[in-house]
Amino acid sequence: AKKHGKQRSVWFEPVMEQELKFRSQLENGIRAGIAAGEFVPFYEQQVDVESGRLTGFEMLARWQSPALGLVGPDIFIPIAEEIGVIDELSECLIVQAFRDAREWSPDLTLSVNISPVQLRDPWFSQKLLKLLIQHSFPASRLEIEITESCLHDNIASVRSMITSLRNQGVSVSLDDFGTGYASLSQLRTLPFDRIKIDRSFIREINNGEASSKLVDAIVAMGAGLKMPITAEGIEDEAILETLQSMRGLKGQGYHYGYPENAAGVIDRLREHDLL
Ligand code: C2E
Ligand code: CA
Ligand code: CA
Ligand code: CA
Repeated sequence: AKKHGKQRSVWFEPVMEQELKFRSQLENGIRAGIAAGEFVPFYEQQVDVESGRLTGFEMLARWQSPALGLVGPDIFIPIAEEIGVIDELSECLIVQAFRDAREWSPDLTLSVNISPVQLRDPWFSQKLLKLLIQHSFPASRLEIEITESCLHDNIASVRSMITSLRNQGVSVSLDDFGTGYASLSQLRTLPFDRIKIDRSFIREINNGEASSKLVDAIVAMGAGLKMPITAEGIEDEAILETLQSMRGLKGQGYHYGYPENAAGVIDRLREHDLL
């Protein structure tokens, strides 16, 4: 047994140690990166599917890490939540986004992703209102995106949070719809302004009649609930054409362009004579 133990330690410990070390380097890097302003907003176009008209941008967080390069949110958001800095991180991104979006045409909206951890804070809507006022950004241009996983939490408090955000003039969208948590009965009682169909459904839309019928059904459900639909993950012309046969959709995805930084957005707006 002793021998085994020894072998085990020789084989496993260095790997685990390395992982722990990497993890704590990441944590420290994130903390330091917030202070150093390494977290920046990128933006993805949101478009009216039928007309192709640009309606706004979704802010997507990026970490310009000196050590790691450009890091995506799937890596650092969960860690920021765990180590308790998501509030701080989100605030610094939102403030940058308000500044950026003030340079755009005032009828373009700004969508911001909010983590379930933030939504659990009973003061969240107050804090957001304070930021809106401090940076004189109109609430009517702001759209909050919350994922279905929020609906895991106490549904009454989620409902009252949505309501108080909407009373402030902010719109609230249900993100990643169809990936697992929202039940239809919950949807009926939650006052979302919009539903965003997860890109896994959109990607499959031309692969068999069942796939497009499913999206059709979600669009019809949205119409019934008076919650307009956004299709995310539009990657090519063929997907776009199928979606254009459905009424009233907004869309986003690589077909319209990859997420880009604030300067890229300004170039894009000039290109389209929107600036
Ligand atoms: P999401 O809100 O569903 O954002 C869409 C993700 O899909 C983005 O990935 C975007 O770059 C990617 N995407 C856009 N169009 C296409 C497409 O046509 N095809 C494919 N395959 N992917 C596409 P990203 O930027 O890596 O963000 C991942 C997730 O991280 C987001 O998913 C969002 O839930 C979260 N996130 C991003 N920024 C923030 C933030 O500031 N705060 C919080 N809490 N979460 C954030
Ligand atoms: Ca989103
Ligand atoms: Ca999404
Ligand atoms: Ca997602």
